[in-house]
Amino acid sequence: MPDRHFWRPGGDAVRHAFRGRRWCGQVSETSVCGTGVRLTADPSEEDWVIAPTCTDCNAVLRAELPGPEPGLFG
Ligand SMILES: [Zn+2]
Repeated sequence: MPDRHFWRPGGDAVRHAFRGRRWCGQVSETSVCGTGVRLTADPSEEDWVIAPTCTDCNAVLRAELPGPEPGLFG
């Protein structure tokens, strides 16, 4: 069972994934992709809209999904 994670825009204006169920008030955190980012208590709506999803975090999480990757049977 993969660990739970949540997405949150960081100080680098990228939406990273973080380990855990939810944000617990920490002002800085190391993301799934290994980047240390500042976290703000109240990201603006703009942050959520503008911040692109971190492709590195996405790749790490996808790799942790159970089951074979599509394409392995091709
Ligand atoms: Zn990331």
